[in-house]
Amino acid sequence: MVRSVPGPAATKTYRCPGCVQEIRPGVPHVVAWPADVRGDLTDRRHWHPGCWRAREQRRPAIERSRSAPRHG
Ligand SMILES: [Zn+2]
Repeated sequence: MVRSVPGPAATKTYRCPGCVQEIRPGVPHVVAWPADVRGDLTDRRHWHPGCWRAREQRRPAIERSRSAPRHG
């Protein structure tokens, strides 16, 4: 699951797993969490929109060769 968070809704500082930089309060960003984990919203990840898109587009051949489950 992926949701966009508008700036005013962001009230905390998060750590973007894409660039390992902080996402300041008030900054619009993207929240993603494993869709198959029900009722556990503590595993949400907060991304910069640019970092999230880069993650989606970047599909290394190494990752494609093995069918390991994605790490949420
Ligand atoms: Zn980032």
